[in-house]
Amino acid sequence: MKRVYNFSAGPSMLPLEVLEQAQKEFVCYGSSGMSVMEMSHRSKIFESILEKAQQDLRDLMHIPDHYKILFLQGGGSTQFAMIPLNLMNKNNCADYVVTGQWAKKAAEEASRYGKVNIVASSADTTFDRIPELDPAKFQKNADYFYITLNNTIYGTRWRELPDTGDVPLVGDMSSSILSEEIDITRFGLLFAGAQKNLGPAGVTVVIVREDLLGNAMEFTPTMLKYDIHAKNNSLYNTPPTYGIYFMGRVFEWVKAQGGVAAMQKRNEEKAALLYDFLDQSQLFRGTVVKKDRSLMNAPFVLPTEELNAKFIKEAEAQGFVNLKGHRTVGGMRASIYNAMPREGVEALVAFMKQFEADNR
Ligand SMILES: *Cc1c(COP(=O)(O)O)cnc(C)c1O
Repeated sequence: MKRVYNFSAGPSMLPLEVLEQAQKEFVCYGSSGMSVMEMSHRSKIFESILEKAQQDLRDLMHIPDHYKILFLQGGGSTQFAMIPLNLMNKNNCADYVVTGQWAKKAAEEASRYGKVNIVASSADTTFDRIPELDPAKFQKNADYFYITLNNTIYGTRWRELPDTGDVPLVGDMSSSILSEEIDITRFGLLFAGAQKNLGPAGVTVVIVREDLLGNAMEFTPTMLKYDIHAKNNSLYNTPPTYGIYFMGRVFEWVKAQGGVAAMQKRNEEKAALLYDFLDQSQLFRGTVVKKDRSLMNAPFVLPTEELNAKFIKEAEAQGFVNLKGHRTVGGMRASIYNAMPREGVEALVAFMKQFEADNR
C-alpha cells in the first residue's frame, strides 16, 4: 500500500529513511545477533546506543556540559507533576503562562503541590495568540517560570522568550523540539515527549541544569526524582530501550539534513507555503494571529461546518489524512513536523486551491 501524507498532531509522521533503516535492523542490530528490543539495557551495546543518542542531541541543540539529558517514560504529561515535585522547592510557588490546554493542564497539576500564579492567559480569545506579558505580575521569588513553546492544539509559538531574570525558565517543547534553534542556556529545564518530532511514543526527553537537581519534595516517588535518573544516566530501571534506539536514528537523520538550523529553514519554507495560501484565499482562513503562528501546527477553517466536513472527507480520499482540527477548535489542522516533506505541503496546498475553485 502507498504511504499517505499524514498530518496528525501526534503520534505523527516519521522520516521514511529512518523507518526503513529500523526495518533493516529490526531482527538483528549490528553484530549483536538480536533485536534492540531483546537486549539487556545493561549491555555494552545498548549503553553505546544510549550514549550516542545523548551525544547527538547534545550536538544538535548545543547543550552545555552542565545540563543533564534524561530519557524517561510517562510522556509529556508526567512532567506536569515532576516539574513541581522537583523544582517547587524553595518558596513553593511558580509562575505559569496559559497558552493552551497543555499549559493549563500543567498549571493545574502544579497547583496540587504549591502556589501557582497565572501570569497571563489567552483563554478569552480561544488561545489564538501568545498573550502580552506584564513583568509586574512575575513573582520575584518564584521557583520557576513555565511556558509551552509550541501550542500543538491552537497552533501558536513563542518567538521571543520572556526575561525571567534569576528565576529558571521551564519549557514544554514537545511539539517543536529540533524544529527550530533555541538557546538552551535561557532555560533551567526543557522537556519533550517523543511522539511529535523525535520518534515513537514512549520516551520523554528532559534537559535539566545540574544545579536544579537534588531538591525534590520529601514525598516525591523515587521514579519521579530527576536526580535519581541523572545519577544513573537514565538506567535506574529499564528505560524505553527501543524508543531510545529509534530516537537516536532520528537524531542522526536530523544531523544528515544539516542540523537544526537547516531543519528550521526548511520548516519556515513549508509553513510559508501554507500560510501564504491561507492569507490570499477567499475561502480558507487561518485561526491564529499572524505574529504568533506555529511552524509545526497550522489550524484553519472554512466558512461553514458543512464545508469543513466536506474538505476533510475529500482530502482523506486523496491521501491527506488526519487533517481534522482538535475538538475544541473545530475546522482543520495540518501538523507539518520535521518529517513532513516539502512535497507533502505543496500537494496539500494544491489540493486546497482546487477545493476552493470547486466550492466558490
Ligand atoms: C502532546 C503534548 C503533550 C502531552 O504529551 P503526552 O506524551 O501525551 O503526555 C504535552 N505538551 C505538548 C505541547 C504536547 O504537544
